Order: sequence, then structure tokens, then C-alpha cells
Amino acid sequence: MHPRYIFITGGVISGLGKGITSASLGRILKSKGYRVTNIKCEMYVNVDAGTIRPTEHGEIFVTDDGVECDQDIGTYERFLDQNIYKECFLTTGQIYRSVIERERNFKYEGEDVEVVPHVPQEIIRRIKLATKKTKAEIAIIELGGTVGEYQGVLFLEAARMMEFESPSDVIHIHVSYLPIPKNIGEMKTKPVQYSVRTLNAAGIQPDFIIGRAEREMDQKRKEKIAYSCNVKIENVISNPDVPSIYEVPLILERQKLGEKILKTFDLKSRSYDMRDWKKLVKKIKSVKKEVKIGIVGKYFKTGDFSLEDSYISVIEAIKHAAFAHNLKPKNFWIDSAKYENDKNKARELKEFDGIIVPGGYGSRGTEGKIAAIKFVREHKIPYLGLCLGMQLACIEFSRNVLKLKDAATTEINPKTKHPVICVMEYQKKLLAKKQYGATNRLGAYLCRLKKSSRTFFAYKKAMISERHRHRYEFNNKYIKAFEAKGMIFSGINPQMNLIEIIELQNHPFFLATQFHPEFKSRPLSPHPLFLNFIAAAKNH
Ligand code: GLN
Repeated sequence: MHPRYIFITGGVISGLGKGITSASLGRILKSKGYRVTNIKCEMYVNVDAGTIRPTEHGEIFVTDDGVECDQDIGTYERFLDQNIYKECFLTTGQIYRSVIERERNFKYEGEDVEVVPHVPQEIIRRIKLATKKTKAEIAIIELGGTVGEYQGVLFLEAARMMEFESPSDVIHIHVSYLPIPKNIGEMKTKPVQYSVRTLNAAGIQPDFIIGRAEREMDQKRKEKIAYSCNVKIENVISNPDVPSIYEVPLILERQKLGEKILKTFDLKSRSYDMRDWKKLVKKIKSVKKEVKIGIVGKYFKTGDFSLEDSYISVIEAIKHAAFAHNLKPKNFWIDSAKYENDKNKARELKEFDGIIVPGGYGSRGTEGKIAAIKFVREHKIPYLGLCLGMQLACIEFSRNVLKLKDAATTEINPKTKHPVICVMEYQKKLLAKKQYGATNRLGAYLCRLKKSSRTFFAYKKAMISERHRHRYEFNNKYIKAFEAKGMIFSGINPQMNLIEIIELQNHPFFLATQFHPEFKSRPLSPHPLFLNFIAAAKNH
């Protein structure tokens, strides 16, 4: 079958859950027997997300093949329950870079290289390449941002050109917002009408409109949108707020979105299997007993608001594992800065069933995280450390158990007498040359587990593969001293002999990883380490 393309654009405001809508559509079409991939186009000039602050951008997700990308890629992986590849993540920066490189290599053979059509043509080439690489029969391409922003124009032009080339293979879906202003109390359609007009100005007529709103859209609003935006009424779909994002595929499916899309493409459903998903949603709705997990981090604040998105994969991984244990996760954001001045404040951590210190960079907040780790180690509260969370657990152990008072990571204190965490040898050159982009140790690496360890018990196999993003590592000179005091190095990378997992004896659950297990947790297959962590939290 030749591939079909679905473009998803957003209107009115960002943060509408376009990513969740795109991912849900992926899930639906996959359940109907089609090979699907999701593709994300980012409007920024950064080549990838690796150089963007999390508070600015949300989480930096990492794929198996090592690309630092948008959190939507994580959402796609979780909903589709399949890996997304680096070709499926496009940015303006990548597009410009390859157009300029091609020009320098005389690939345009003397042509005058213009923003239009050459930039949209490169976007189209990349979309087709991603579709081919993933062998997708249907590619769902989400354009970041909202229509009307200058930076999105070339991507819209690419979407228009693709439809012009082969009209029956391209569908446009516009996800837009219907506010219910408090003082009026009525659902308003005008913002949707305006954003569709803006899309029309770019030469695109949406085939479907998905209305995001606090509540379900009624028939009257649907009629109004259909009439004023030139869309069939049955193609105006309601997507109200729901307690769990995992419900969205079922909501769209109830309105037969998948079937209608296939029909527009002149395709038929090959099968139908949403049983697992339905079971999952039923479970999510039924769990009552709470498990209280504290996340001690620093990428929460943006102005007066807090941005949970910075740790979205961690949050989702907690949910997946909690649901599997019939628990309702209650997550708490703990800004590590508050333990910096008053370490006694860490006492409040007693209230939690488990504590996580997730990944991070730079010195801000680290002493607060170390204070938190000391408290949970000493008070036997289940602890899961992720990347920086492992490095800081090693520093805490060195300082307070091995009594190496100035133990540190060279990321923060390059002159320490005890560099328990130090920069990886090959990273030194990169950092000296200021080559920061895409040079972390990235993506999937193998890890051999120590038999009889807690980790081995969790995975039930000896060789695993997990995703990384870091430049610093445990300094193997300290292995013996650590082991003498009850630390077990339960996972080692066989090629480079790097410590990937630590766990503590005589503690109900104290385990930390240099990799990021959260990136591989899926709602239908929760991650084994999170499952074990939540089990310990349940018993706490
Ligand atoms: N900053 C640390 C490093 O580069 C940890 C990175 C992380 O937590 N992802 O090694």
C-alpha cells in the first residue's frame, strides 16, 4: 500500500494536547491493523532539543537511536507502544542545515536556492524518508505551535504542497480550542473559526476539526463550526478534558474518528483490537488507594506557574507502575532548593511512600537533593535515582558513609579531592571545544546485570538495554570502598565497563541508575524498576 499522510495543526493556544490527540489517533489506526508512525515537526532553529532549558521546553526525551527530542515523541511511544526513530523528529534547524549543506555540495546544480520552494521541499523529503524508514502505511505529522505563527509558515506550505501533489493521500486535521469564559458560561466557537481562517490563508482546508474544551461540545456548536469552517458535521469531533490522557483514544473512537479517516482515504479497517487499552482505562478509573511519591527536582518553576512537563516521562512511568499495582499515584513536586539552607526540612520526606530524584544538569539545587537522599537512605524510605539521581546518591554515600567530606562530581566541583563522579574520558575533548550539541552519551546501551541482585530480580534477565543522556559517570576507583560498605554495583556496561546501576543492601529499596528507565515505560508494559519501586512504596 502506498503511504497516506495526516497533518495535525493546532489553533488558538499551545498546550492543547495536540501531541496526545496525534498519539491517540496513532493508537486507533494501529488498532485497525495499519502500520503507523507519528512524526513531530518543531518550529525552533535548534537542531534538536538537547540545548534547550527544560523549564522553557518541557522534558527532553531520548529515543533508542539517541536523538534528544520533544516530549511528544515520548507520548507517541507510550500510546503506540512502539519505538519512534530519529527520522521522525524534524526541526527548522535541521531543515535549514540540510538545505545549506546541499547547496554547499552543489546538490542544487547551480539553481538559485530559495526559501520557497526549496525549504518546504526539504521538509517533504524528510517526511517521506521518515515514513519509508518506519515502513508506515499511515504517517501522522504533528506541526508544533499554532497556526498563524510566522515560524510555522514553511511547514504549512509543505503540507499544502503534499496535498497538491496527491490530494487523495493527505488529510488535514485541525485541533483547536473552545473556551467557556466564566462570566458568560457559554462555549464559544469564534476562536476556532479564526484559526481555521488562518489555516485557509495558508491554502489549507481542514478535513476534520477536533474541538478541545473543558466540556463535551454540543450539537449546536458542532453545527456552527461545520457551517462556518466548511467541514462536514460528522467530521467535527469533540475532545473534552478527561481525568486521564489514556482515555482520549476511546473518546475519539466513540465518535468513529478512525473509521471516518480510513473512509476519507478510501481504506477499510483490517481488524479491530482495543481490548488492552480499554482494560487499562477501566483499571485507571477504578484504582482508589493512593501511593504518595515525592519528586525532588528543580525544573518546575516558570514565572508564577509550575511546569510538570519537565519530568513527564517520570510521572507517566510512576502512573504505569502504580496502576499495575492497583494504586492511584499522587505525585508531589518538591523543589530541592528548599533543603539547601535548612537540611532539617528534609524531615518532611517521612510523609512519602517513595522518593525519586530525577535527571538534571548544573549545580543549582544539588545540595538540596543530596540532603533529601541522605534522609531517605537513613530513614529507609524507598528511593529511586535517575541519572543525576544516581550520581548524587553516590556522592551522598561517599560523604556520609565513607566520610570523604568533599566528595563531589567534577561537573560542579572540578577541583574536588574525591571525584566520585567524573567526566567520561572522551567527553573532555568535546567540552574543551564547546561541542555541546548532541554529544552527551545518548540513546540505548547494553547493561549486564549481577545475578542475585534486586535489579536482576526486577528484570528477570541478565542483559538489558536502556537509554542514556549524560556526560559524567561513576569513578571506578571507588568501587571497592563502596562495596565494603554495602553498595552493590548491579549493572555494568560490558563494552566500556561503566557503572550503570547501584543498589544498597539493608535498605527496603535504594536503587539508582545512570540511564533513564522512565523513557521505556509504557502504559501496557510498565517498567520493571518502577514496578519494583512502587511495590516497595506500597509496603512502606
Ligand atoms: N548532569 C549529569 C551528567 O551529565 C546527569 C545528566 C542527567 O541527569 N541526565 O552526567
